[in-house]
This record gives sequence, structure tokens and C-alpha cells, in this order.
Amino acid sequence: MSTCILWFRNNLRLGDNMPVAEAYAQFDTVIPVFILSDSQHSSKWAEPGMGPHRARFLVESLEDLKQGLRNASSDLLIIPSEDPVKTLLEIANQTNSCAIYGPKEFAFNEVRQESELVSKAKQERLEVKFYTERTLYLQSDLPFGLDDLPEVFSRFRGKVEKRSRVQPPIEEPEITSFDPLDFNLEGSEIPVLSDSKDSRSAVPFKGGTTAAWKEVDYYLWESEAVLEYKLTRNGMVGRKYSSKLSAFLSLGCLSARQIYDELKRFEEEVESNESTYWLFFELLWREYFQWIALKHGKDLFTAHGLQPEKPLKQGFNARAFEKWTSGNTGDRFVDANMKELVATGFMSNRGRQNVASYLVHDMGIDWRAGAAFFEKHLIDYDPSSNYGNWLYNAGRGNDPRPFRKFNTKMQAERYDSKGEFVETWT
Ligand SMILES: Cc1cc2nc3c(=O)[nH]c(=O)nc-3n(C[C@H](O)[C@H](O)[C@H](O)COP(=O)(O)OP(=O)(O)OC[C@H]3O[C@@H](n4cnc5c(N)ncnc54)[C@H](O)[C@@H]3O)c2cc1C
Repeated sequence: MSTCILWFRNNLRLGDNMPVAEAYAQFDTVIPVFILSDSQHSSKWAEPGMGPHRARFLVESLEDLKQGLRNASSDLLIIPSEDPVKTLLEIANQTNSCAIYGPKEFAFNEVRQESELVSKAKQERLEVKFYTERTLYLQSDLPFGLDDLPEVFSRFRGKVEKRSRVQPPIEEPEITSFDPLDFNLEGSEIPVLSDSKDSRSAVPFKGGTTAAWKEVDYYLWESEAVLEYKLTRNGMVGRKYSSKLSAFLSLGCLSARQIYDELKRFEEEVESNESTYWLFFELLWREYFQWIALKHGKDLFTAHGLQPEKPLKQGFNARAFEKWTSGNTGDRFVDANMKELVATGFMSNRGRQNVASYLVHDMGIDWRAGAAFFEKHLIDYDPSSNYGNWLYNAGRGNDPRPFRKFNTKMQAERYDSKGEFVETWT
């Protein structure tokens, strides 16, 4: 009897999930485990804990995965631990497992954790494997080595579009049964969190694969809003201006390949236009930041970012920062966006660019403080996308333009001309 620990991280789904497929293909018994940890912060600026909306989204996603596994006579062990590597090795030991399989992550801390697990497991003669499931392309599909990954998005896009192909999603495997009691294992209950939904939020954000597919169905098939995406994507009010799929992608309730596959089906069966292409274009931005994070490691989280030669002009002022976080800067557009973030865990892309620019370029505050605040609150928090975008907006990342400051007054006039957004969140 061979037993494998299947370590779920930010891949909380069963379909198109390489480590899941491989574990069930190769071992008689598979023990699905999720380590609930608060130690995994991307920077020293991060406050402990998650904001209520991010925590709720995670809990709902875990509940959904657990239910999916239970429907197949398996289960998900949820184990609170601030030392995931040690805990995984202990469970492997206790269950006589010969392997630990998990998803490959892209950001520095997560990659370091993988190396630590690999080296410690070697001493115990355990096989450890990490499989890519997070991106559209596998590393071997990219038309360049990681060291040669272009530093400008348009070059990356040009090359992958011409020379790489998104592979079709892989099937959900047959899940074999597993009962924690057979191994004397006891996970903890999923924490019960109160429903903190703000009635002003136009988005029915609920975590989990079931909810993720409902959102795909809504955005593509039901509303066909994707057909207008290129025109609406800079919007700020309502459910339809953008796909609202980011949080599902961040926790892996859905894979980028599954969305791509569904988009292609929609293009074949309904219509293909500039807007449907643009959704793929945005998925390429996400893709780009994943590979950039893998290439640059720790640099993504440092004050200088990817531009070490550029002088630093930022400081920190706790009172001013508090005004930004609480939506009291006096700039109504910025304030409304920050209020939406804290009240819902979400902010539009247009909003994110503006509040980031305001913090860094108008207030002169260290971009890492803003990024850490986003890390705590965003339900779609993803280290690569968050820190990559912050660096980009702070003028320290992959931006060919040397200075990217937004005029928030003009932005408000352009993107919220009737004041509907500011009205909603004031
Ligand atoms: C300062 C800042 C911080 C950000 N932090 C995050 C983060 O932590 N997690 C996150 O997923 N996105 C982040 N973004 C990117 C973007 O704002 C969100 O992905 C997007 O607003 C989510 O809404 P949507 O799913 O409706 O996007 P859509 O407009 O429908 O786009 C479709 C998908 O493409 C991807 N995408 C779109 N734009 C970007 C982008 N600029 N960078 C990376 N991926 C993108 C997302 O996965 C998104 O779900 C950040 C942007 C900024 C400016």
C-alpha cells in the first residue's frame, strides 16, 4: 500500500490540477491536507492576520473543496500550523507516507518553502514533487529560458502569443477514499466566520470552485458581458464591467487554463471579437507577473524593486498612511476606492492604479506599506500580481515609462463622470 500526502496550497480545486491528478494516478491512498497558517506574509510590512473578507473567501473555498472530496468518500484535513514544512513531515511520518505532492508556487517565500521541504524530506527518504498548475503555460512551453524572460510585458506577450500554446485542461481524476480516522488523524474544523457582505457590493463574492463556475457562466454565457469587456474593463460600478474571476484564480478555485478553454468555447459557439480577446490579454498580464516573480525572487519585495539603480524618494508617515487606509485623504475618488476595499475585499483595477499612485506619488509613502495593506484585505491577493503591480505603479517594476503618476481628479472625471462610484462609497 503506497500513501501520498497531497498538499493543497493556492490550488483549491480538483479539475485541471496536476499534483492532484498525479497523486491519484500513482498512489493507493491519498491524504489531502491544507495547512492553515498566518506566517506566510510576503513582506515585513504585513500586519498579522487576514482581513475579514479575504479570510471568509478562503474559508468558503476550503469548505467547497472539502465537500467535493467528501462527496467522493475522501476528506480534506485542515491543520493550523505556523511551520507547514514541519507539520507536513510529521503527518507523513505518522501515516507512513512515501511522498508529498503539491502545486508549484511562484513567489519568493513560497518557493523557499518548497526548497526547505525538499531538503528536509530527503533526510527522511520521502519523495517530494511540485507540479505547475497555476499558469496558462508550463515553463517548458515558454519560448525563452527564465533568465531571458523579457522585462517588458509587450515583448513577453508578442513572443508567447507567437510561439507558445496553452495546453487543454486535464480531467479531474477519480478520487479514492480516505478516512482520517484510519490514520488517527484529526484536522480542525473550518472556522465559522460571520457573513460580512456589504449591501453596496454588486458582486456576489463567495469562495470555492462551485461559485467560480457560476461566475464564469454568468460573465460568459448568461450575460455575455465578455463581448463588451474591452469597452467596460475600466469601469468601477457593478458586476459586469470586468470578469470578477481574480479571487478564484488566486486561490486556485479555477485554473487560468480552464478559463481560457471556456473562453475559446464561447468564441466558437457564440462570438469572437476584440473584447473576448482582451480577456485573454489580461490573463497574459497575470501570467507575466507569475513568471516575473519566479525570475526576480526576493527583489520583488524590496524597496528598490526591479530598479536598484533608481534613487529612493519614499518615506513613511503613520498618520498620513492611516488617512489613506481609512479613506480620509480628502481626495474623494481615492477615498471611495479605499472604502470599497475595506468594506468588500475588492477594488477595480482602475481604482487600484489610482490609490497606489496617490499613495506613492502624491503622499510620498513607501509603496510596500500600500502593498502590505492590499495583501491583508484583497480577496484576490496573489503575491506575484500584487507586488508586481505595486512595483509597476511605483515606477520600480516592469514599466517602460519612467514615471507613472495618475491625476486622480482627471481620472475621476473620466471614469466616474456621473459620480456614481464616489456616491456609492462615500
Ligand atoms: C496595485 C495593484 C495591485 C493588484 N493586486 C492584485 C492581486 O493581489 N491579485 C490579483 O489577482 N490582481 C491584482 N491586481 C490586478 C487587477 O487589478 C485585478 O486582477 C483585477 O482588478 C481583478 O478583477 P477582475 O477579475 O474582474 O479582472 P478582469 O479585468 O476581468 O481581468 C481578468 C483576469 O486577468 C487578470 N488580470 C487583469 N489585470 C491584471 C493585472 N494588472 N495584473 C495581473 N493580473 C491581471 C486577473 O487574473 C483577472 O481576474 C492588482 C492591480 C494593481 C494596480
